[in-house]
Amino acid sequence: MKEKLIRFCNSIDIECTGIAPAERYTEFAGVWKKQLDRGYVSGFEERDFKRRIDPRETLPEAKSVIVCLFPYYTGRADGANLSVSTYSRDYHLIAGERLELIGNFLKKEIPGFVYRAFVDNGPLSDRYLAYRAGLGFFGINGHLITEKYGSYVFIGYLINNYPFEPDKPQERTCRQCLKCVSACPGQCILGDFTINPLKCKSYLTQKKGALSEEEMAIIRRNSLIWGCDVCQEVCPHNQQAAKTAIAGFAENLLPALDYRELKELSNREFRQKYGDRSFSWRGKNVLLRNYEIINKL
Ligand code: SF4
Ligand code: SF4
Repeated sequence: MKEKLIRFCNSIDIECTGIAPAERYTEFAGVWKKQLDRGYVSGFEERDFKRRIDPRETLPEAKSVIVCLFPYYTGRADGANLSVSTYSRDYHLIAGERLELIGNFLKKEIPGFVYRAFVDNGPLSDRYLAYRAGLGFFGINGHLITEKYGSYVFIGYLINNYPFEPDKPQERTCRQCLKCVSACPGQCILGDFTINPLKCKSYLTQKKGALSEEEMAIIRRNSLIWGCDVCQEVCPHNQQAAKTAIAGFAENLLPALDYRELKELSNREFRQKYGDRSFSWRGKNVLLRNYEIINKL
C-alpha cells in the first residue's frame, strides 16, 4: 500500500512523501515545553499541549501520519518586497488540494480509511513530522532542510488510520556554519535549533496592533513587507536548491506589492484581488504599516 501511495503522490507532482508514526512525540514534547517555559511561542501554534505532541488527540484512531513536501522555490526576483514563499497562489490551497486528492485516493483503496489533512494550520509541528518521516534534517535556523530543495519547502500531512510503515529519521544536522545566526535581523536564532519567534521579522510582519520601537527596527532591517527570507538565503544548503517542479508555485508570480495601489484599494477590493495569496490573511493594513515602517513614511 505504501508503494501505491508513493506512486499516487508522484503522479500529482509530490516527489517527497514519508511516514511518521502516530504516537506521543516525547522528544518534541521536551523541545516544545522548553519553548513554552521561555515564552518563545508566537501564539499561532496549537495551544493544547497534548494535541501539539500526539496525533491521536486529533484523530483517536490514528495509526500513521503521511507527510508530504511541497518545494516552492522559483528564485528571488529583483525588486521583490514579499517573501519568496508568497510569490505564488497561496500554498495552503496548492498543497491542500493535493492532500485531499491523496485522502480521496486512499478512501477508494482502503475500506474504512479516515484522515485529517493539514498544511501549516494543524495541531502538530509540521517540521518535526517531516523530520520523523525521514524527509529532511534540522538547521540551526529551525528550518527543515532537504538535500535537493534546501529549506524551500512547505509541509503538509494527513493523520490517518492506516498503519503505513514509518520511515527512519535522517541522523544528521546542518553544517552549523552560523551564517544564519549572524545575519538574522531579529538576532533570534538561539543556536539550539530553535528560534525566539517573538523577535523574528517574519512573525513581526504578520503581527497586528502597535509595535514597539525594537520591533519596528527589526522590520526595517530589510525591504520585505511580508516575511523574511534571510536565514534561508544565507544558508549553504540552499545555494544549489532546485526550483519547484509544481506548476502552481511557478505561475502568476507576484514578488512585489505597490504601496500606492494598496493604499487605494478598499478592503473588499483587496480581498477580491489578493484573497488567494498567503500574504492576504492579515488584511492590507498590516502590509501598509510594514511598508511605512521600512520606508519611514
Ligand atoms: S526569518 Fe528572518 S528574523 Fe526570522 S529567524 Fe530567519 S533570519 Fe531571523
Ligand atoms: S546557515 Fe549554517 S548554521 Fe544556519 S541553518 Fe544553514 S548550515 Fe545551519
